[in-house]
Amino acid sequence: MSKVAIIGGGIIGLCSAYYLHKSGHEVCIFDSNEVGKQCSYGNAGLIVPSHFETLANLGILKKGLMWMLNPNSPFFLKPRLDIGLLKWLIKFTSFCTNKHVQNNQHFLRDINLYSLDLYKDLLNNSDLDFTLNQNGLLMLCQKEKSLEEEAHVVNCAKKLGLNASILNKEDIKELEPNTSFNAIGASYFKDDSNIQPYDFIMTIKKYLLKNDVKIYENCKIQDFILKNNQIKSIITNKNEKYEADEFVLSSGIFSSQLSSKLGLNLLMQAGKGFSFTVPKNDALNFKTPMILVEQKIAITPYDSYVRFGGTMMICGNDLSINERRINNIRKYSNNYINNLNIQKKDMNDLWSGLRPCSPDGLPYIGKTKISNLIVATAHAMMGVSLGPASGKIVSDLINEKKTQINIKKMALYRF
Ligand SMILES: Cc1cc2nc3c(=O)[nH]c(=O)nc-3n(C[C@H](O)[C@H](O)[C@H](O)COP(=O)(O)OP(=O)(O)OC[C@H]3O[C@@H](n4cnc5c(N)ncnc54)[C@H](O)[C@@H]3O)c2cc1C
Repeated sequence: MSKVAIIGGGIIGLCSAYYLHKSGHEVCIFDSNEVGKQCSYGNAGLIVPSHFETLANLGILKKGLMWMLNPNSPFFLKPRLDIGLLKWLIKFTSFCTNKHVQNNQHFLRDINLYSLDLYKDLLNNSDLDFTLNQNGLLMLCQKEKSLEEEAHVVNCAKKLGLNASILNKEDIKELEPNTSFNAIGASYFKDDSNIQPYDFIMTIKKYLLKNDVKIYENCKIQDFILKNNQIKSIITNKNEKYEADEFVLSSGIFSSQLSSKLGLNLLMQAGKGFSFTVPKNDALNFKTPMILVEQKIAITPYDSYVRFGGTMMICGNDLSINERRINNIRKYSNNYINNLNIQKKDMNDLWSGLRPCSPDGLPYIGKTKISNLIVATAHAMMGVSLGPASGKIVSDLINEKKTQINIKKMALYRF
């Protein structure tokens, strides 16, 4: 068995570490921060077979142009002179077609369902202690047009064999009798699930440490030493060298900077999003996670608090919190949920995260031309959903086993 070094301890790196350790490898993890404290921290934790439409789609192209002119919209692109952004945008727009969505919906369904099955397996073994809420997902609509669009998604979902339906106001009331929503209807995806992402990462971390996996935190990998087309060692910001037989690059949005040192050009842009939590109160007495369709706000209930998250800002690798966008999440949530009145003082754990986004909306997972390096990144809005699937695929690749999912669509050199 080999010694494997994982660069980046977000959900993708930790799931990879888990499956590699289980298959007998000596694993170590390097993270420039604390593990799980970047994009994998304050996200909505949704596991979404229902998200079989790629991020690049015709709808986002049409709405995106309108959203760009509206400072209160859920999407924002800050124009800047950057050749990487230009290349990404040209590719992204070329994938905003119905054909692209159709070509990838079976793949996205399959990999999400595979990951959900792996979550269920993890729940049933005694290594990890976490909660998997299997309460489905509501996509709440305030406008007729949105509900019509959701009806179309539901039809496609049914054709894909997913458990999906359209709910009217009474159906929503039946599902969530203790909360009142300002919505005309919703689509409902019964198989979708959710976790608390940081708790999940912490339980993997605890398991790995108990099993002598070394986790180097606050240890940034800056460079590589190559010999005969192989990485011999990685170099940290403290100028220390670590050797290993195999390397996994799972540094989220920072994977593209690091991989460029190895001549690999991963087209990626950060999609910045925000979240905050609010303690549970009478207006928040529901169990089904939901997305407010018109505003693209995700709301995930936990035992004692509810997390509100949203926004997609393409503005470089900048983590600053944008007051206006955060306030919009607060205001629109107050508008969709009757009797809810979140005030600024009620908002806890204010957070921003950089989604690593490829131009076609699919991850990058696979072997590189460097014989002992595997890349797993660009999970955009689905890193939690696809965490276990990605980790298992990474482990299968290192073990030279056939992956359960055909990974061709996630090829690193596809552009
Ligand atoms: C508001 C919001 C809501 C979201 N909701 C959902 C959701 O409901 N469901 C879902 O599936 N996804 C969701 N996502 C997306 C999800 O959070 C990401 O896809 C996922 O966290 C990416 O995981 P990662 O491991 O690739 O990256 P990260 O979590 O960013 O991990 C990368 C790690 O690499 C480390 N690193 C970086 N550079 C270096 C270096 N040079 N050396 C060593 N370490 C390094 C970082 O410190 C970090 O810990 C959401 C995102 C946002 C912003």
